[in-house]
Amino acid sequence: MALTFTDFPLDHAGLKRSDPDWIDEQLHDPKARAVLFAGGDLACDERGQDMILPARRTRMLPMKPPGLIFLGLLNETPWFAGTLEDGVAGKGPDFRISAINAEPDMACVYARARSLLAWHGRRKCCSNCASAMKALDGGTRLTCSGCGMDHFPRVDPSVIMLPVAGDRCVMGRQASWPDGLYATLAGFIEPGETIEQACRRETEEEIHRPVTRVEYVASQPWPFPSSLMIGLLCEIEPGEVIPDDDLEDARWFTRDEVRAIYEGEVARWAPANFSISRLLIDRWLDAE
Ligand SMILES: [Zn+2]
Repeated sequence: MALTFTDFPLDHAGLKRSDPDWIDEQLHDPKARAVLFAGGDLACDERGQDMILPARRTRMLPMKPPGLIFLGLLNETPWFAGTLEDGVAGKGPDFRISAINAEPDMACVYARARSLLAWHGRRKCCSNCASAMKALDGGTRLTCSGCGMDHFPRVDPSVIMLPVAGDRCVMGRQASWPDGLYATLAGFIEPGETIEQACRRETEEEIHRPVTRVEYVASQPWPFPSSLMIGLLCEIEPGEVIPDDDLEDARWFTRDEVRAIYEGEVARWAPANFSISRLLIDRWLDAE
């Protein structure tokens, strides 16, 4: 099964979405659907059902700016999304639970919606001149009414890596994590860095071990709110691990110790297909 959020089924319709008349046609398509959010979670109705409705039934509902945005086409069905005003509907379960329980294609639709809506929620005025902005291209562009600057949804590239040396790897844990859960290291790529440089810097900052080799494995969109996780295995020099202040702990594990963690109680916190952290760990275990 594909990693969650990677089985992306939507046609972005990039050549058509700049035409407002075409977007309006999609909205009036009887097949059009809209997924509604309450904050960062799916909204739910009074029966506790996720609010995924015919788009035309949602147009009178009070929504936060810019209203419905166009996500794309899924098998010729137009998909839209919007964030309801506070108090209009209930919140469904935590978004992670909704994504884990969704079909792979719908998890991607939810993820795209969550990232785009979160961006709109944080872009209430132009960052260049503070004027009001208008949403274009179905909501994937904001243009400023004052200075004319265009603003596009941001994606934050991050490295996520499992440091290894022979039959051992290093995993860390944050104090807020469930008891016993250790996982890969991660950090944002800084301006001017390559992926490999970011991996070396983050690893050395977090566990104070030098990196000797970096291997790309896979990537995963991560809609919390809009990261792109770039998954790596990195070889490090054996020796003492000194965790950074951000980590509660970091230490060496053998393959057998890692298996014990991920086959035991902790497995329910780390579903096999949900995060690229688990994929990196599984890839290393399988390479024995
Ligand atoms: Zn401006």
